[in-house]
Amino acid sequence: MRIVLLGAPGSGKGTQAKLLSRQFNIPQISTGDLLRAAVLADTQLGRLAKAAMDAGQLVSDEIVLAMIRDRLSHSDAANGFIFDGFPRNIPQAQALDALLARIQKPLQLALFIDVELDILIQRLTGRRTCESCGQMFNIYTSPSRLEDRCDRCGGHLRHRADDNEETIGNRLRVYEAQTAPLIDYYREQSILRTVQGIAEIEQVSAAIMKVVKDTAAREIGKPQPAVEQPKQGGKEQPARVVVKAAASSTEARKAAPKKKAAVKKAAPKKKAAVKKKAAVKKAAPKKKAAVKKAAPKRR
Ligand code: AMP
Repeated sequence: MRIVLLGAPGSGKGTQAKLLSRQFNIPQISTGDLLRAAVLADTQLGRLAKAAMDAGQLVSDEIVLAMIRDRLSHSDAANGFIFDGFPRNIPQAQALDALLARIQKPLQLALFIDVELDILIQRLTGRRTCESCGQMFNIYTSPSRLEDRCDRCGGHLRHRADDNEETIGNRLRVYEAQTAPLIDYYREQSILRTVQGIAEIEQVSAAIMKVVKDTAAREIGKPQPAVEQPKQGGKEQPARVVVKAAASSTEARKAAPKKKAAVKKAAPKKKAAVKKKAAVKKAAPKKKAAVKKAAPKRR
């Protein structure tokens, strides 16, 4: 399966990606983890990325896309992957579409884990990660029995440098402005499905497994996608995938009743942008206030 996990910081993407990775034996590709490893190893890429990460801003698309191109060339990604924390904005999503279209392996599912903002803040401030095995804990909701040691392997638990209140505020603002529009982007491609992410990890995981299995079942017997190649000579455009007689998901039927079978044409850019703005505003009126609350403006 080729999956993108969407959701705000703290929505549980990392935890759920690990569970999916074990279940389906495909790699979790977390750009956040790759970047943190580069920072820790003090590579040139890590040094370039560090300032943006510390400030809760996005690292440049150029760096992130180079990392993704390299990671996708590893043999373990040949049978699928779960992107966690990537793409983070529309240009990254378009570049990913173009990259996957070239190898004729388009995304099959964009899974949005929906969590309210107040809960996100609590999750982020309480989050602890095992340095050795990556197991995640939360001092408020799911603490380790061994306090600052991992229940599973005894490793040391770490509080991420960017999980402090000021950086969290920035990360949530960046999410709303740049990443949330991807929900509509993938809805327009009829591959978006949404799962409520407020329940226990096991319950969220069960809901996600069901969606993934449903999607996998529909993929079987689906005709191979014909891929429109980007125009030569001009600026590279994201290749659009024309899927004949693809079964539409519940989400797609609900969200876009007119686009039953396929994403034949991308919507004209202007219209899409207007729609996206309206949707973000409508979907999260409380969010803005809460984000402001989380990180009050300095005078
Ligand atoms: P995460 O672990 O996904 O929350 O990412 C931690 C930080 O890494 C983010 O706040 C960004 O600074 C950076 N980062 C991770 N993924 C991306 C991405 N796809 N594009 C740009 N920056 C990213």
